[in-house]
Amino acid sequence: MRDPGAWRHRSDSPHEECGLIGVWTKDGADLARRCFFGLFTLQHRGQESAGIAVTDGDGVACEKGMGLVTQVFTEDRIKSLRGHAGIGHTRYSTTGSTTIQNAQPILGSFRGQPFALAHNGNLVNAVALRAEMEALGCRFVSTSDTELIVRLIELSPETEFEAALRGALTQVRGAYSLVILTPDRLIGLRDPWGIRPLCLGRDANDGYVMASETCALRLLQARLVREIEPGEMVVAGNDGLRAEVCEPYVRDSLCVFEFIYFARPDSRMYGREIYGLRRKMGHMLAEQHPVDADLVIGIPDTGVPAAIGYSEASRIPYSEGLLKNRYIQRTFIQPDPKMRRLGVSMKLAPLHDVLNGKRLVVVDDSIVRGTTTDQQVDLLRQAGAAEVHLRICAPPIRYPCFYGIDMANQSELIAASLSVEQIRQKTGADSLGYLSIANLARALGIPRDKFCMACFDGRYPLEIPQDVRATKFSLEKEAPDAQ
Ligand code: SF4
Repeated sequence: MRDPGAWRHRSDSPHEECGLIGVWTKDGADLARRCFFGLFTLQHRGQESAGIAVTDGDGVACEKGMGLVTQVFTEDRIKSLRGHAGIGHTRYSTTGSTTIQNAQPILGSFRGQPFALAHNGNLVNAVALRAEMEALGCRFVSTSDTELIVRLIELSPETEFEAALRGALTQVRGAYSLVILTPDRLIGLRDPWGIRPLCLGRDANDGYVMASETCALRLLQARLVREIEPGEMVVAGNDGLRAEVCEPYVRDSLCVFEFIYFARPDSRMYGREIYGLRRKMGHMLAEQHPVDADLVIGIPDTGVPAAIGYSEASRIPYSEGLLKNRYIQRTFIQPDPKMRRLGVSMKLAPLHDVLNGKRLVVVDDSIVRGTTTDQQVDLLRQAGAAEVHLRICAPPIRYPCFYGIDMANQSELIAASLSVEQIRQKTGADSLGYLSIANLARALGIPRDKFCMACFDGRYPLEIPQDVRATKFSLEKEAPDAQ
């Protein structure tokens, strides 16, 4: 039996879970195309499947498929989706494997009315809740935790949709940003900790956009109104927009990895542009871990802004040193072990004349398993680097994520069992320095208690049940083959 997640283990970065878009228009002009553009902008948050659901005020139609947004949505498919409001989803799975059944949005029916729901996050009580519901006779068609919310709404004794939604959310625990579509409204909401992002925008035609990241608003010519608050529900409908408390606010715990790695550099979170924050992380890294060197390079793409920041603070010149093959996709990465060593070379190409004879500072966003870092160091040495000093703009990752980011189990996390010096030896670097939690918070310029940093410090904002420290395939009787 193949490991359904095997292909992604070639890469040593954490992986986003999902991107969400919601669009409410007054006139339905270009509705499906606008959802498509929004998803296209959020492609970096998930590449496994994509889907769009729209409503014309009566029914809800949905198209979804496996692959990139541009692979799923042909011109004919976009044209077939007509309506005045829609939601879209691009998926990277953390609970449930890569199958079309797990693609979102997921459709449901409440009191004879259709609805569609899309989710970014991960429910920590999914296994127990699903077992309880199955014992009561509930049948599931997917293995994703998102379907639990859909079925809880369907089974609600309430007569009004929003009451049923609130009731469903009292039964789930975990990280969830949701966009939900009914024939007469578009709803966006975040869990009471605000672990995953969701923002609200408004366009010039009095339409509304909800999106995981602000970068999606710009393409849809919508201006950012604000981030949806933890525990808040925002509802767009024919009467305009209303916002209300959905669940009692607990605390802000936005995932700090959005700032380090996930979010697009042109997105804004907590009012700050991500690119500038990554440069500041580079400034702090240079202050914390100075080194005598000739050149600073970044591991593309995410390490580049911090590398520029390191160069600015250290006054060591910056250059591109590794070029990324922009067209590499999961399908190029072979499961054959012999081919795995090629993974890094297929992805990154060194600029020999730039690197030859240089003492390098190499800035990367994070080290998860450490399975590719030694190959990167090898690649640089083969290109003639005299010294390789690794600088990581995140603290060591010692604890797994249960809130929707696919990193690894704790036993796979290199920093969970090895010291920084042991990791340096394993990677073959001349020196290794991580950004501290305190300096990360200083770079962000926002109090540390506004973030989830549990993968660094083990302080989970929302308690993780012991029996949930399971793999992402825990809702499946048997892990299926990769699709
Ligand atoms: S544990 Fe780490 S990756 Fe997961 S939500 Fe918290 S900060 Fe983000």
